[in-house]
Amino acid sequence: MLRKVCPICGRETDVLIEGMCPDCYRATHRIIDTPDSVTVLRCRGCGAYFINGRWVRGIRSLERLVTSKVKVRGVVEGMEVRVFRDRAKIKVKGKASELMPNTYEEEYEVKLMFQSDLCPSCRAELMEKEEAIIQLRLIGGDLGDVKSKVMDIVRMTLAKGEDKGRIISVEDADGGFDIKVTSQRLARSIALSIHRELPSFMMETSKVIGYRGDRRVEKRSISIHVVGLSKGEVVNVNGAYYLVKSLHRDHVEFIRLNDGLQLNVKYGRLMQERISQVADYTIQCSGGRVTINVGGSQYILSGVNLICP
Ligand SMILES: [Zn+2]
Ligand SMILES: [Zn+2]
Repeated sequence: MLRKVCPICGRETDVLIEGMCPDCYRATHRIIDTPDSVTVLRCRGCGAYFINGRWVRGIRSLERLVTSKVKVRGVVEGMEVRVFRDRAKIKVKGKASELMPNTYEEEYEVKLMFQSDLCPSCRAELMEKEEAIIQLRLIGGDLGDVKSKVMDIVRMTLAKGEDKGRIISVEDADGGFDIKVTSQRLARSIALSIHRELPSFMMETSKVIGYRGDRRVEKRSISIHVVGLSKGEVVNVNGAYYLVKSLHRDHVEFIRLNDGLQLNVKYGRLMQERISQVADYTIQCSGGRVTINVGGSQYILSGVNLICP
């Protein structure tokens, strides 16, 4: 057999592969091609990886992902991929060209770049953990009465079971009380039930409490001002006496005692007024006239359609 000379290293060789001896070919050609790095989304909750459109668990799925990025250039007899922390080590047995007489082993390394994310089930769990607050504030009336009415409505809403979740706490606060629940959805449906059942003014506010990735995380709170006034009651508003003539969906009709003026006040406006209960007063009705004794004075209102107690 005629020996050839490798033009690169000058040694004699039986075969020339693309003009090189097997050793020079091996030095300049790899058995496989690998990317320098592979980027993977990883759930910071449970450690699952997002691979090929699915959330999967376990280091094996990472190893399979790295394997799928390998491009075979020569002949592969065996390949082993192992992941250690943030790198994958690949051991390959084979040769860079089928013209080479012998197989050998090569090692490769691929860097794993993890991007933090949340899988759907961890995301759902996190949402569930996010607390929501319903702030109940009273406009007139007795806190104990309103609280027991409100808590009946809360129990009924929970019993319907349309929204998952539960009550975390009920705590007294200035001018009312706060109900803490496990989800914003539940908070909203409770608030809506209260708003439907009781004369009230409802407001929803939200503030940004942080960022998750580039997503804004908002803390929402719902406040409901429940109008605790009763029809036929005398109350003190900003220092003057008023008779509660009637309560409507969004407003109250007052009669001012000192001049008989009738006023419609929206509940949203009422929140800003100073309303206090009047403990000591008498009220009598006869022949379309209402006589009220309060604070040492007597007021007579005529033309008031009021069913007296
Ligand atoms: Zn050579
Ligand atoms: Zn997860």
